[in-house]
Amino acid sequence: MIALQPSSEFKAENQNSFDLEKIFFVLKDQSFLTINGSNLAVLTNDEYTWSGMETLQDFFLGYIENKACYAVELTQSSPILADTQLSPIRALLGLLPDNLFTICSRSLQLIDWFKHNQFCGICGKKMNMHQAERAMTCSCNTNLIYPRISPCIIVLVTKGEDLLLAHNKNFPGKFYSTLAGFIEAGETSEEAIHREIEEEVNIKVKNIQYYGSQSWPFPSQLMLGYHAEYLSGEIQPDGNEIDEANWFNYKQLPSVPSGKISISGRLIEHFLEIKSHN
Ligand SMILES: [Zn+2]
Repeated sequence: MIALQPSSEFKAENQNSFDLEKIFFVLKDQSFLTINGSNLAVLTNDEYTWSGMETLQDFFLGYIENKACYAVELTQSSPILADTQLSPIRALLGLLPDNLFTICSRSLQLIDWFKHNQFCGICGKKMNMHQAERAMTCSCNTNLIYPRISPCIIVLVTKGEDLLLAHNKNFPGKFYSTLAGFIEAGETSEEAIHREIEEEVNIKVKNIQYYGSQSWPFPSQLMLGYHAEYLSGEIQPDGNEIDEANWFNYKQLPSVPSGKISISGRLIEHFLEIKSHN
């Protein structure tokens, strides 16, 4: 098996145009082949070929450490390699270095896209992989389907020393996070921020600052992270998605996501860092 360095850069590509050593990331449903439950099992070509595992389809992902990366999906009845396990991706969050998380996220999204686009939505015929592009195509020549990415905004709203954190109905226990939502068709990310925050907690914001983004493969979100400042309004949770929301002083935060796992945690940690220097 291959041990990849956490500092190695992964470069996404759609066509493998070099004769490089191939390495394989193996998954089934939303679980990845691991060793000891937490380290991704990255297989060499020989290990993959002789493993006896039955796979459905392989997807070229891109390059890392001068090697060509592939994701392969196991059939439901496939055996797995001795001394390995299948670990759900959610159990690996926070344990994987960023480069491996990117590879896992890309693997999940490409497989999901492929599965959901087997038939043409225009004429109903079976679709095929495009020869040159990462797209599914149909012989009716009117339908070219690229992997779907759904942009979302995720925003940390602050007021002086306070952070606006919300409890989503689906969160377990007393766990709070930043506000988030899908960008609607035709909307800019800034418009989505104003609309979502007002809808979810009845607050108006100002001074929107882009922070960074994170790919979130459940199933295909691109989370665009922003800081924003309070402008006006009283907090009023919408009761649908958000059942509780409050201002929390940065020195007394409730249970929040870790920056190792999500951009929500990174936004919070970034704000705490700014405050600790003030
Ligand atoms: Zn068609």
